[in-house]
Amino acid sequence: MKPVDPRLTIDGALGEGGGQVLRSALALSIVTGRPFRIENIRAGRKKPGLLRQHLTAVNAAARIANATVQGATLSSTELVFEPGEMRPGEHHFSIGTAGSTTLVAQTILLPLLVSKEPSRVVIEGGTHNPSAPPFDHFARAFVPLLERMGAQLAVRLARPGFHPAGGGRIEIDIEPSKLQPIELEARGAPRSRMVRSVLAQLPEVVAERELGRVRESFPWDESEFRTEELTGSISPGNVLFIDFEYENVTEIVTAFGSRSVRAERVAAEVVASAKVYLISEAPVGEYLADQLLLPLAIAGGGRFRTTRVTRHTTTNLEVIEMFLDIDSSIETLGRNDSRIILEAR
Ligand code: AMP
Repeated sequence: MKPVDPRLTIDGALGEGGGQVLRSALALSIVTGRPFRIENIRAGRKKPGLLRQHLTAVNAAARIANATVQGATLSSTELVFEPGEMRPGEHHFSIGTAGSTTLVAQTILLPLLVSKEPSRVVIEGGTHNPSAPPFDHFARAFVPLLERMGAQLAVRLARPGFHPAGGGRIEIDIEPSKLQPIELEARGAPRSRMVRSVLAQLPEVVAERELGRVRESFPWDESEFRTEELTGSISPGNVLFIDFEYENVTEIVTAFGSRSVRAERVAAEVVASAKVYLISEAPVGEYLADQLLLPLAIAGGGRFRTTRVTRHTTTNLEVIEMFLDIDSSIETLGRNDSRIILEAR
């Protein structure tokens, strides 16, 4: 992979303007060995700058890449990151809040996968956070596609963590891997679908109400509805998932329960997301789409069809093109169907 411009300055306000610009830049900087400076970090967010979760991602990236860093403090809106020699091996990162462990994983996973030695990483914080991949999505939608690209890894939910207390723990074992491009054009044959109401320290009636409301929209077989109790959480939590398993892809749509939201509202939200997925034939949902771009870019290319092209996706493509000799294009195939193509220049 050939660097494009040795002195790279990134405007963190670019496109979507959130944490992903920073996380992707960190991962790509380590993989390419290319230093960068980022300004206006998370300028598009209500509380701009580095929150604990982003600071943990920066520190984790710095640790695994022996990097020299300036500006790694809470609320900082500017950062300089210069990666050094890769340091795979045993690492333990603690966010200290309920910040998302999967987003910290998103930052360091790819660099560790393409490094020369195995690693074992423990990340503590939130495991089921709104606006981040819930552990289930990470483990059962994203990771299997990485594995199909040649990645060798195992991920475990050691302890669930919900807002506000956090206290969750994920563990990841990583073997050095060579990533190969993939093409994901069709879902393939349907295998299973499951509505799961996940509870931690909450009464079962919450799940009953959620599942009851989902059943009104999707009158599926009784065996396709399930309540799951998570043990070990230090705070109450509730997530409602619908898993769609196909031959070539598993997608998981999510809605989060919260004290101020009625169970029926949570159910209506997950039903709406599921309908968006079901109305389309594209295999990759909107979130998985932005997450697949980095692995594909590092693998040297690939293509997939997605239900929706989001600002996260277009912004991530822009960041990728700053670091790698990759061209991307988006073809609109229908109202809920687009093809994203990444090609080595
Ligand atoms: P940012 O908003 O920049 O911090 O990025 C959020 C990340 O979380 C993106 O990679 C999204 O794809 C991912 N994400 C947000 N919500 C979900 C969800 N419900 N399921 C899976 N991934 C999600």
